[in-house]
Amino acid sequence: MSVLIDGKALAAKLRGELKEKIALYRAEHGEIGLAVVLIGEDPASQVYVRNKIKACEEVGIRSFSYRLPENCTQENAEELIRELVASDKVHGILVQLPLPKGLDERKLLKLIPPEKDVDGFCAENVGNLAMNRETIVACTPFGVMKMLEEYNISLRGKKAVVLGRSNIVGKPMAMLLVNADATVTVCHSRTENLKEVCAEADILVVAIGKAKFVTADMVKEGAVVIDVGMDRDENGKLCGDVDFESVKDKASYITPVPGGVGPMTITMLLYNTYLAASRRNA
Ligand code: NAP
Repeated sequence: MSVLIDGKALAAKLRGELKEKIALYRAEHGEIGLAVVLIGEDPASQVYVRNKIKACEEVGIRSFSYRLPENCTQENAEELIRELVASDKVHGILVQLPLPKGLDERKLLKLIPPEKDVDGFCAENVGNLAMNRETIVACTPFGVMKMLEEYNISLRGKKAVVLGRSNIVGKPMAMLLVNADATVTVCHSRTENLKEVCAEADILVVAIGKAKFVTADMVKEGAVVIDVGMDRDENGKLCGDVDFESVKDKASYITPVPGGVGPMTITMLLYNTYLAASRRNA
């Protein structure tokens, strides 16, 4: 049986530490503000936004919540972002994705300057990550790195395989692992011999959005398995991209779903917002 990487417990610990740091910051510099922008009525997005606002309250970050209707124009959305960019009270801006059809996501996100891009999505922050320079790192892969660090999992010289190449998870994850001296392979839907490639990994990070896709035969004995997926199984129950039941006896460390990577993502958003405020005052 492998060691369970407890994302929920680690997230609670980090949020406790962050709360103390934020209290010190506030005493010296005033409030830290995160603007959360929700456009449209997507039910999942509404839940995510609610959770983010609640998490802000828990650690002492002031959240400014903005809602625009589904049929808002690109100009309306851009006007709001420009206001938030100009506001001294706002240290971080988060636009909940996906946007309703008809809005130009790229154009809108481009308005957010790197220092307020607490999602770590903009080209400058991604470029800095690629060059292993100080930056704001996308929350989910950043959270995975924190988990590996917490459990003293060494990466130097290890073979890491990242399954998935999205801009928000797979690619930044691969860059972080390279920066930590792992030897990294990125796999995707066109990868040949996927099973064999995965089975060579010392560290396997899976982010493809396919329920229980990774089975025991794709995992090396003793590998560290990080499951980023948030899927539904055949009974509608939340599960990951990894078939936890079959893989858990083969892996040395494994993250559960729920209770693994998920709780770390919002925690790193809070952390990035704190970082953005601290850098402004550095
Ligand atoms: P995405 O943008 O849909 O990207 C999926 C990636 O997986 C793509 O690169 C795709 O390859 C690859 N892929 C899909 N099917 C594959 C297959 N059969 N074999 C090999 N590769 C395959 O997804 P994402 O945004 O990265 O999210 C991935 C998962 O993580 C989802 O379940 C999502 O809900 C979850 N997630 C969780 C958190 C969290 O906080 N826990 C945060 C973000 C995402 P191509 O590029 O070739 O199409």
